[in-house]
Amino acid sequence: MSYEIPAHYDLYIGNRWHKSASDATLECISPLTGAVLTSVPDANAADVDAAVAEATRAFPAWADMPAKKRQQLLDAVADRLVADVKRIAWLETANTGKPLRESHANVLTAADRLRYYAGACRVLEGTHLPVSRDVISLDQRTPLGVIGIIGAWNFPLNMFIGKIAAALAAGNTIVYKPADLTPVTTLEIAALIGEVLPAGVVNVVTGAGASTGAAIVEHPGIRMISVTGSTETGKRVMRGASDTAKRLTLELGGKNAQIVFPDADLDRAAQGILLGAFMNQGQVCTAGSRIFAHRSIAADLKRRVIDLIPKLRMGDPFDEQNRMGTLISRQHLDRVQNYIDLGVSEGARLMCGGRRANIAGFPEGLFMEPTLFDEASPKMRIAQEEIFGPVAVFFEWEDKAKMFEQVNAVQQGLAAGIWTTSLSEAHAAARHISVGRVWINCYNLYPSGASFGGMKASGFGREDAFETLHEFTEVKNVVIDTASSYRRFYE
Ligand code: NAD
Repeated sequence: MSYEIPAHYDLYIGNRWHKSASDATLECISPLTGAVLTSVPDANAADVDAAVAEATRAFPAWADMPAKKRQQLLDAVADRLVADVKRIAWLETANTGKPLRESHANVLTAADRLRYYAGACRVLEGTHLPVSRDVISLDQRTPLGVIGIIGAWNFPLNMFIGKIAAALAAGNTIVYKPADLTPVTTLEIAALIGEVLPAGVVNVVTGAGASTGAAIVEHPGIRMISVTGSTETGKRVMRGASDTAKRLTLELGGKNAQIVFPDADLDRAAQGILLGAFMNQGQVCTAGSRIFAHRSIAADLKRRVIDLIPKLRMGDPFDEQNRMGTLISRQHLDRVQNYIDLGVSEGARLMCGGRRANIAGFPEGLFMEPTLFDEASPKMRIAQEEIFGPVAVFFEWEDKAKMFEQVNAVQQGLAAGIWTTSLSEAHAAARHISVGRVWINCYNLYPSGASFGGMKASGFGREDAFETLHEFTEVKNVVIDTASSYRRFYE
């Protein structure tokens, strides 16, 4: 079964396809075949103005809508997504090269996020402080207005839905820019949303980060920016947003550790290490790419991991038996290959992989072998910098304090995995690691309601959780004196 992708998309603004004011376009290339999939406008400042104008017009009615009605509408969007799961998953795989079974799961996760926030908006409460018998202080949570949201290319549909769901539930309207490489499912889902939500509530503009993205970040009509991207992009966005003093949430990169204790269930850990390192071909912000194995079990663990590598069936991502598809682009594949070459030249030992993989029938397919290193030093660049591909590095440890020091000795602090059967070991380890998400005896689970976000250079702000509604609202305090008589100051 295959589905149509139009040769060109327009922007989606005010619930209709909107011709861009810019003549420039960006091509989307299939990472599987190298063919041009479609093209999208490289939107300019006038397009961003048009989107902001629609979102501004839609804001008062959306913000004032009773939460019960908003809940129904967000649930209805989730229903649309689930009804169209096959087509949306197929389009996601066509655009990204990720395995279809992962895209399918991603659609269902996205629908679950919508349902979570549909319910959560019903219980977004303020606070009431009885200052004295007569005086009441109310903290009311009010939506901000138009939110500019900018996504990365690795989970395009999840990112779109996950990021807009909380902002919408809190009563805001949206101008969203998908990553330049992966606009297809965002635009298709925007059109589905347009059948359910009022015009202007969700608007999508496409284009490059430095132009369209920067125009969103600097736009005076936008109150807040929520961006997912690299740490470098996060820093640029902070600078760009400073002139208009916008609120920010930044979900940035990671260089995440998985720690294996001597008492760990090694089969379970081996499965988790593979999932952490190679899910979505390692193109995951939380990729567990630094594996710290206790010396007493390191050899055994490595053998179990290597034994599992053939189970990572790589090939046509539309074949539901396959577990690894392509990387996102030629440029990105070259970047990953450069890191692998650098690792070898820095003196790390290649345990497996290391090259582009040739898959029969797909001469242009951007496949990369799952790659593991050992005998590396934590100071090497492959151990310090986010590679964002199927590459992980093993280290051995004996001294726990030193190991924690090495785990934390990276710029970023997004996620970590801990493998142990000891509750006290797990609890203590979680306390020692400076990251926003710790998985214990599991990896890459993202339940709706569990707060997700980074520490250090991985950014700030929390997604997926109830608390995210607070990020997308501001507090208005109202003080009321209910007394029938009043004190006279001026007599
Ligand atoms: P990127 O930083 O290149 O781009 C992310 C988005 O920002 C894109 O839409 C891009 O067009 C836009 N952008 C770039 N420069 C901009 C600017 N100056 N102003 C405004 N927008 C700009 O990232 P990418 O290559 O698309 O994605 C990979 C990165 O995203 C990795 O570092 C990964 O770790 C990170 N990521 C983080 C999370 C998280 O939740 N923490 C999730 C997924 C990906």
